[in-house]
Amino acid sequence: MTDTDAAGIAQRLDQVRARIADAAARSGRPAEAVRLVLVTKTVEPERVRAAIRAGQAELGENKVQEGRRKAEALAGEPVRWSMIGHLQSNKVKDALRFADELQSLDRASLAEALDRRLQTLGRGLDVLVQVNSSGEASKYGLPPEDVAGFLRQLTAHTALRPRGFMTLARFTPDREEVRRCFRVLRAIRDRAMEEAPQGTALADLSMGMSGDYELAIEEGATIVRVGQAVFGPRPLPDSHYWPEAAA
Ligand SMILES: *Cc1c(COP(=O)(O)O)cnc(C)c1O
Repeated sequence: MTDTDAAGIAQRLDQVRARIADAAARSGRPAEAVRLVLVTKTVEPERVRAAIRAGQAELGENKVQEGRRKAEALAGEPVRWSMIGHLQSNKVKDALRFADELQSLDRASLAEALDRRLQTLGRGLDVLVQVNSSGEASKYGLPPEDVAGFLRQLTAHTALRPRGFMTLARFTPDREEVRRCFRVLRAIRDRAMEEAPQGTALADLSMGMSGDYELAIEEGATIVRVGQAVFGPRPLPDSHYWPEAAA
């Protein structure tokens, strides 16, 4: 990696932070009300290090093996890793080797596998419940109508600390449809904060990526997951990372 590459990463990171601050202001909130999780999938550790040097501390990975490898390569850096992709129950052990947070909790069997492993390790984990806000059959995430029951089930898993919700909006140039997905998630969050046993602990809304994070913040996002706007386009198509995006 050249110095120019590193400077470009730092510059684009600054631009994203400035846009986050502007969008937060438009929604009547301070910039600090929105966490930026920088998504590092397919990005080499040296380029990630340039972002860390530029002050970025929160990183996200979509796949367990890649996340583990990168976390090891960057061991000793002052960063926190979020697992944001679909997690198979047989990869729980490996995910917990690097992840400080899981944003893609989408089924009871995964909650159970995570809790069992966490109890053995004697630690807890912040989790977000992934919701299928677009209604596409191919997407991961709980259907909105299953969320309330799922939150009640989660109370049995004492190592899991539910903090809120995560979604992927529909992949479409139709901004109103994207906005609708974000509103679905926000309504679920508002209702859960009033009615779920976990109550006000469920404040987080993780929604918005490179193409739509400003829109998401306008609709109340407290966490945005952004990769390409900082690191440039990925070499692999998204279908590699979201099997559900193949179509
Ligand atoms: C890759 C990814 C992102 C970030 O997408 P960009 O287009 O790089 O901003 C966000 N969320 C999830 C779950 C991802 O896999």
